[in-house]
Amino acid sequence: MGNEKIARVRARPVVVPMARPLRTASGAVADAPLVLFDLVTSGGVTGRSYIFAYDAALLPALVSVADGIAESLTGRSVAPARRMWELQDRFRLPGMQGLVGMVVSGIEMALWDALGHLTAKPVATLLGGEPVPLRAYDSYGMAEPGQELKDSVDAGFRGVKIKLGYPDARRDVEVVSRVREIIGPEVALMVDYNQSLTPQEARRRIDSLREFDLYWIEEPVPAEDLAGHAYVRRTTGAMIQTGENWWFPEGCRAAIAAGACDFAMFDLMKIGGFTGWTLAAGQAGAASLPVSSHLFVEASAHAMAVTPSPGWVEYLDLAGPVVREPCRPVDGHITPKGPGLGITWDEDAIERLSP
Ligand SMILES: [Mg+2]
Repeated sequence: MGNEKIARVRARPVVVPMARPLRTASGAVADAPLVLFDLVTSGGVTGRSYIFAYDAALLPALVSVADGIAESLTGRSVAPARRMWELQDRFRLPGMQGLVGMVVSGIEMALWDALGHLTAKPVATLLGGEPVPLRAYDSYGMAEPGQELKDSVDAGFRGVKIKLGYPDARRDVEVVSRVREIIGPEVALMVDYNQSLTPQEARRRIDSLREFDLYWIEEPVPAEDLAGHAYVRRTTGAMIQTGENWWFPEGCRAAIAAGACDFAMFDLMKIGGFTGWTLAAGQAGAASLPVSSHLFVEASAHAMAVTPSPGWVEYLDLAGPVVREPCRPVDGHITPKGPGLGITWDEDAIERLSP
């Protein structure tokens, strides 16, 4: 295993249908454009991962960036953190934020998956944890509140998240009131504004939702407006969640310094794979910020298993249509699967869904 080298990395685009179209206040996503990575080692083991392009128009560029980086990895060791540092140094001048960072993080995750297959262990175990069940919440887009939410609760979820930010603020109140009625008083209710409000409007809307015992208010204002997050937090007293758009551990550091939030949410594709996640998780733990995960449920479960102050795993199954055994919540919990990240492609589905 110590001599195992990277033989090749393949990046493939797919556009998969979403079980629940993701309507947010900042745009709708009906199909999930993904890039799938297959990292093959000299011994013939394959490491797999995927990233989320958000917009299908970005797929060709992401694949092209991946192909460009892949070439330089041939013959290098299967050492995720070392490869990550090298790539960070290499892209210092253009910068890592954006497509480059997404691709580098995807490759880093595939390296961990390969290591897991080489050692026949789940990544959670390789990172020093155990594949134990982790508390998850069911994640919804903007939709008419209905039976589905009741089904989530009946299935054992102790938390659900919905999107807000309707053009008419009164609609936010109606929706939250209806959802609270459906799920009852015991289930944690999170709401996500997807960066759609000004700090002043956020303050007004959050004040109107006070009676519904919201667990967290996510990204009320643009992600990069850390002072705005801090203002909303200070003036409303609401618990603020943010982080899915932090780039690398430096993004976490800046948010903590700004006092932007009560909860942190890491996205493996933007925080820098497992290498970035563990560094950011150390900072969040030291700042007493519980960390929840964003998307990538299969891989995120492994990262959450070694997070010192774990919050909730987001259950939102992006890759379900292209994997053989989709990640299934049991009694509202997700257990990391192995070996590696526990991802096996359904090649027929990939062929059918390639753009
Ligand atoms: Mg969000």
